[in-house]
Amino acid sequence: MNVALFGGTFDPVHSGHLSAAQAAMEAFALDQIHFVPASIPPHKRDRPLTSFAHRYAMVALACTGVPQFIPSLLEASEQNGEEVNYSIVTVRKLAALLSSEDRLYFLIGADAFLEIPQWRESAALLDSCDFIIVSRPGFPIEEIEKAVPSELRTGRATEKCIPLRRTSLHLLTTVQADVSSSAIRSLAAEGKSLCGLVPDWVGDYIQKLQLFHES
Ligand code: ATP
Ligand code: MG
Repeated sequence: MNVALFGGTFDPVHSGHLSAAQAAMEAFALDQIHFVPASIPPHKRDRPLTSFAHRYAMVALACTGVPQFIPSLLEASEQNGEEVNYSIVTVRKLAALLSSEDRLYFLIGADAFLEIPQWRESAALLDSCDFIIVSRPGFPIEEIEKAVPSELRTGRATEKCIPLRRTSLHLLTTVQADVSSSAIRSLAAEGKSLCGLVPDWVGDYIQKLQLFHES
């Protein structure tokens, strides 16, 4: 099987996430994409997050109807007793559940990839599996190559692939989804429509529970 891990805050999950997952699924014949909401992402502690339960519920709703899209509890705190989840740990956990014939990819947007040098054990993470890096408006794909520490590089990069010493970075430049969770939270706070920006069931959930509404 070809399996991808897709981590994020997903506060809330939106059509940009789904376009990225769909494009990766088609380009890499993925059999499973595990959407892993982070319980408390280390780099995002500066703003209050919507509870894990709500973010997971929205991810579960967004995964409905696509057999390959799997909502994952890998970073749920009750599963690991930890407050903070590091991607390297999550990759190891998912890899341990797979068989040796399975191929694991780390699916990530261009903006988030640029932050990897600041992540825990970033070299080990880049050594652990191939990455699928999806384009995102505002984050030039040329920056990706520059973000990789030179000691991890080897061989010649092409438009679609940057070879690293143990793995490869695959660049998927066909996604042009100008949508973000932050923009959606602002729209919801102003009581504006989220139609087309989040799946209908997710919009329904946000509306019913008044998530992101100014209190
Ligand atoms: P926020 O605005 O709160 O930062 P976000 O929209 O960036 O939210 P995240 O949950 O931070 O969403 O992103 C999870 C993953 O999805 C990251 O790897 C990110 O790069 C990727 N991603 C998010 N939105 C897009 C998009 N519009 N196009 C491509 N990738 C995206
Ligand atoms: Mg983000």
